[in-house]
Formats: sequence, C-alpha cells, structure tokens
Amino acid sequence: MTIKINPLKPEKRQSCPEEFSFGVTFSDHMFTQEFDEGKGWHDALISPYHSLLLAPSAAVFHYSQEIFEGLKAYRKPSGGINLFRPQENVKRFNRSAKRMVMPEIEEDFHLEAIKSLVNLDQNWVPDKEGSSLYIRPTMIATSPKLGLGASSSYTHFIIAGPAGSYFKEGLSPISVYVADEYRRAVKGGVGEAKTGGNYAASLYASEDVIKLGYSQVLWLDAIEGRFIEEVGAMNICFVYEGTHIYTPSLSGSILPGITRDSILKLAPTLGYEISEQRLDIEQILADIDSGKITEVFGCGTAAVIAPVGKLSFKSKEYVINNNQAGEVAKRLHDELTGIQYGTREDKFGWIESI
Ligand SMILES: *Cc1c(COP(=O)(O)O)cnc(C)c1O
Repeated sequence: MTIKINPLKPEKRQSCPEEFSFGVTFSDHMFTQEFDEGKGWHDALISPYHSLLLAPSAAVFHYSQEIFEGLKAYRKPSGGINLFRPQENVKRFNRSAKRMVMPEIEEDFHLEAIKSLVNLDQNWVPDKEGSSLYIRPTMIATSPKLGLGASSSYTHFIIAGPAGSYFKEGLSPISVYVADEYRRAVKGGVGEAKTGGNYAASLYASEDVIKLGYSQVLWLDAIEGRFIEEVGAMNICFVYEGTHIYTPSLSGSILPGITRDSILKLAPTLGYEISEQRLDIEQILADIDSGKITEVFGCGTAAVIAPVGKLSFKSKEYVINNNQAGEVAKRLHDELTGIQYGTREDKFGWIESI
C-alpha cells in the first residue's frame, strides 16, 4: 500500500510558532487511513490537518473502543531529525489494538506513515533546547451502531504538534499523591493498553489531588491496595543508596513504558543495578523515612525523567532527597536526552533518523 500525499500549497504552509502550548497547536498535515471489514486498511492519505466527520452513533463515542500512542521527533543541534525507538510504539499500538479487538496495522507501514508526516512537517520540529514534535497515532471505532460489539470500521490517524521542555528551569521535583481510595486498573483489565478509558477513569482522582497541591497520582494495585503500580502517564523508579534502582514488575495492569524499558537497558551500562519486582508501599515509605531510598523518579516520553520530591499517603508527607533532583535522575535524564537529540552515542541502536 502506498500513502497518497495531498499537501498544502507551499505558500499556505506554516512552521512551528515561537510561542505555543503543548497539545493545542498542531502541524500543517495529518495522516489518515480507513479500515472496513472484508476490505482491510485502505485510503492511506496525508492531507491538511482537519476535523473528522463521524456519525453520533459511532462506536467510539459510546463504548470507548479507542487506542493511542505518544512519541516524539527531536531536532539534532547538528541538523536532521531523530525518532527514539519508534518501532516500540508501533508494536505497542498493535498490542493495544489486539486487547481492544481492533485491527492491527503492519508495523513497517505504520512507521512509514509516521516518518512521512514528520518529513513533510519538519518545519514544525522546534529547535529550542528540550523541545520536540509530539506525535499522536490514534485509532477509533467508527461503525455507526449502538449494538454492543466490536466495530466493523475504524479510522487510524496521526497528528503532531510541538512540545516545549517539560521542565522550564532544570529538573524540578514533582509532588505525588498516593491514591488510597481510587484504583486505576486491575490485572485482567485493560491497564496495560494505551486506551482512552483508562485516562477518563483516572481524572476524578487526579482533579482531587491537584486541589491538594500535588501534580500526579501514584496508583496502587487494585486487589490489595498495597503494591505500587505507576504514576499518571509515567512509570516509577526508586533508588536505594544511590546505586540500586527498583521499578515495579509489569503486573498486567501497568502500562509497559518505552522509557522504563530504556532505563532497564541503559542503567546497568552506567554502573547501576536495576531490579523489577513487586514493591510494597509501606516498605517503600519506611525506606524513605530511614533514608535508604535516596531518590524517586517517574519516567515517560513526556518528561523523560521526573524527579519526585514528595510523596503523600494517608495524610502523611514523605520528603525525598530534600525535595531536590538527585544524581541518578540527572544522569539518566542527560544520557537519555543526549541519545534522543543525537549528542551522545547511540550504543543501543535506538535512533531512527529522518
Ligand atoms: C504512555 C504511558 C506511560 C509511559 O510510556 P512511555 O512509552 O515511556 O512514554 C506510562 N504509563 C501510562 C499509564 C502511560 O499512558
């Protein structure tokens, strides 16, 4: 299958504005393709960014049959554009599709669609330090029917928009509230799929903690309310004695982050030990109190590494590393962003240049 390109006239094209807000400004073009049962994927097209026309009865509006991905294109200081492990995003997209009974997309073709869009809209990849072009592949169920069941038609689209540096002044720690009452996902459910409903389900608790002055929710497992899962749209790591990093093992209800996986591979080469295991919240809090835990940080595509300065659980606040970013977080942040922007050696072959 080939991708048809209907570009804007050159004089109508824009480039990344000096000032923008993440998630509301989009590049000139978007990718779309349609799926119909019996016909498969068809009409792959890159065309000017536009609204979609859907029946009010379209399945996505009623039963949330929807999946998405998030990855970034980085402008190298020496020129050229890098994608970071994009194959992992297209693979995860297919795993999410399978879980939500949606059609898979040929990996190489999906990657080609992403690259073609970024290539056409390369003037939209910002060049300020720490900024990038955020890419959002999405699939929605479009069959106009209210009967409950998998849709027989789907739209796959990719949009992109500039993202500024997550941290305006260096790595400043975030405050995290451990959810005591609400749960995000349960083993056997859809927590490991990047599907819209997971985020709709988390909004109530998130809005609550923002009022209390925390920026993110840390989720515990839904069965015992005891084991640590993840934070908002980030996985989480705990550093013991400045040398040993622990992250919760993938339990079936945690989103398998690509940043998390990159840290698992990168950290040992920097001299850190790393373990994936079940982490009990009471033990973790005791180890923060005793000083054994020297750092806590979240990891995900948006922030790469987000140091956690405070954890609150059952009305008690636990301060980590004097509410400062620690050495391990800084080092992993610098290494990972160095690879992404092409200023450090890509020993793992993670970069795809455009
Ligand atoms: C996307 C996401 C992550 C992080 O995944 P990355 O691939 O590292 O960006 C973690 N948790 C949740 C719930 C997510 O949606």
